[in-house]
Order: sequence, then structure tokens, then C-alpha cells
Amino acid sequence: QKALQALNSSFKIGEQDVFLSGSMGITIFPDDAVERKILLRNADSAMYKAKEQGRNCFEFFTSGLHEQATARSKLENALHKALSNNEFTVYFQPIVSHDKKTVGCEALLRWHSAELGAVSPAQFIPVCEELGLIIPIGEWVLREACREASTWCNCFGEQFFVTVNMSSVQFIRQDIEALVKTVLRETQLSPKCLTLEITETLLADNSVNTLQQLQALRAIGVGLAIDDFGTGYSSLSYLKRFPLSKLKIDREFIKDLPDDLEDCAMVSAIISMASNLHLEVVAEGVETAAQRSFLTALNCDYIQGFLYSKPLPAASFDKYIREFIDGQHLNQH
Ligand code: C2E
Ligand code: CA
Ligand code: CA
Ligand code: CA
Repeated sequence: QKALQALNSSFKIGEQDVFLSGSMGITIFPDDAVERKILLRNADSAMYKAKEQGRNCFEFFTSGLHEQATARSKLENALHKALSNNEFTVYFQPIVSHDKKTVGCEALLRWHSAELGAVSPAQFIPVCEELGLIIPIGEWVLREACREASTWCNCFGEQFFVTVNMSSVQFIRQDIEALVKTVLRETQLSPKCLTLEITETLLADNSVNTLQQLQALRAIGVGLAIDDFGTGYSSLSYLKRFPLSKLKIDREFIKDLPDDLEDCAMVSAIISMASNLHLEVVAEGVETAAQRSFLTALNCDYIQGFLYSKPLPAASFDKYIREFIDGQHLNQH
């Protein structure tokens, strides 16, 4: 009865929230707090959680929620300033060919926040997407990556490529074709040296505009790789419908090779299917020599992972590609 009474009293607080958003946050008096101000704040945090859960539902306040909400708004505030404060850097992870030459790299964003220290992209990229900040930040990454890669392409020729992760939000909200053309012109990078990594989410979006943008990019010679293949809403029809050039097998399928027989079967099937569709295959997250041997035996085109190198700052990557790799010199042109 006490709980019911408590629920009723906070229900009124919750009701205002319901009216505004269709999501309800509930805090219990006097268990969670006794002060009106704090009760309101609690209910607000719980409502926020309810919204995150997909709206139209209710959530009870828990002590962790307030900290979560505070941490989130700190992250948002820091992100808004990050670009103008020069807190971002682009790192490059080697992509190594079948014959053990570094032939390309993936550009990966790094953020060192003045307030929060290093924050992982898995944590801040989704927030950037929600806030729309992925548009200016993604543009900055593309420019940086192309600028650095233009030096490497000059040294190693047009078979060298840089891959850049593109969020679906960028394609939906921006004219990527125009942006890419501008950046290629500015940085003097050949379109052949650039590959955009897109996800199954974008392909599932099924919009005519997306397909047209992707076709236009392929027409000027830019490569398109499907990232994290096998983890999203995989549909094999995407591989036929979209003008892709590479397929990246997610680390999830690689990590238990060669012991997990199911993963072995999956990876082997993906590689042979890709090869029949004339898609080049990149295996991601390769950490051991045993994984590499398995993949090489299947004629996997490229290997990427800690076995060769972690993502490196541009200057270190530059040094890396000029040095010996597995006892072999790079093809220098
Ligand atoms: P991703 O595109 O799948 O990138 C590969 C991730 O795996 C990177 O994490 C990389 O550091 C990590 N990795 C590479 N080799 C290994 C390995 O051998 N073992 C293990 N355990 N991990 C490995 P990172 O840099 O933390 O990036 C996480 C995700 O954040 C990326 O996943 C990508 O989805 C996103 N991301 C990073 N930079 C950008 C960006 O500039 N734009 C967008 N839209 N997303 C980005
Ligand atoms: Ca990627
Ligand atoms: Ca990936
Ligand atoms: Ca991944």
C-alpha cells in the first residue's frame, strides 16, 4: 500500500512527462528521495531511459540513472567543442595483401577530449550520429584521410588505397558525391585510392537516392566496401544490387578461427561467394598467425588486424610502410 501511495505521488510528476513525450519516468517517494527537486530530476532521468528504450513505455528510477544522464550530457557538451578544439586525430591501420605487402589502410577516428580524456569511437560515434555532429566530423575525417593518403599514393602508386568509414546518416543527410569530389580535388588524391566503408544499415535503407549516390561514386572510380559483413541485417541481395568493390568480414567470424568449425565454414563460404561476385575480401581483426594461415589458404585478398599493426598515427604509419614487413620490402615505385 505504501508503494502504491508512493507510486501515485510520483505518477503526477510522471504525467507531465507522458504528456510531453509519451515516455514515463517513475521515481519512488520516499525510497529514492524526499526532496521535490530531486524527485523531479530522478523522474526525468528515468524518462530519458524510457525514451532510449524506444519510447512509449515507463522506467523506474535507479541510482545509476542519474550518473548516466550526467555522463551523457558531459559527453554531448564535450563533443560539441571537440572539432573546434582540435581534439580529433585520424589513425591508420595497415591492410596487408595476400603476398604480405601493405597495400592500404583504414582511417580510424581518435578523440582525446580535454575534459574526458580518450573516448573510444564505439562510444562517441553513435552520439555524433544522434546529434548530427557526424556531418562536420565525418567531413573532417574524409579530408584528413585523403590528405595523408595522397602522399602514400604518390610513393606507392595507385594500387595503394585508404578506406574511410561513412555513417549512414551522412548519406541520408548530405550529398556525399559532391563532398567526395570536392575533397578529392582539394587533396589531389586519385579516386582509385579512396574506398568508402558503408554498412548494411545503409543498404537496408533501400532509398533510390542512396543507390544513385553509390553508383555515381563508383562511376568516378571510388571504391565501396561493405563493412562488418555478416553482423547486420545481412541480405545477400545487397551484394548484387549495390555496386560494391570490397567486402570486409567482421572480427566476430575471425576471432575463433581456425578452431571453431562453424566459423571456418562461414568464412570459407563468404570468401568463395565474394570471389565469384568479383568482390575483394578483407578479413578484419586478424590477431594470430594461425588465423592468417587459414585465411591465406582460402585466398583471402587482404588481412587487417593487430597481427600486423594496431591503428597508427599518420607519421608512424608512414614509417611502418617504408620498413620491412615480414622480411620483404615493399614494392616501391
Ligand atoms: P570498424 O569500422 O569495424 O573498425 C575496426 C575496429 O576494430 C577498430 O576499432 C580497430 O581499432 C579494431 N581492430 C582492428 N584490428 C583489430 C584486432 O586485431 N583485434 C581487435 N580486437 N580489434 C581490432 P575502433 O578504432 O575503436 O573503432 C570502432 C568503430 O568505430 C569502427 O569499427 C567504426 O564503426 C567506428 N568508427 C571509427 N572511426 C570512424 C569514423 O571516422 N567515422 C565513422 N562513421 N565511424 C568510425
Ligand atoms: Ca570500418
Ligand atoms: Ca569493420
Ligand atoms: Ca566492427
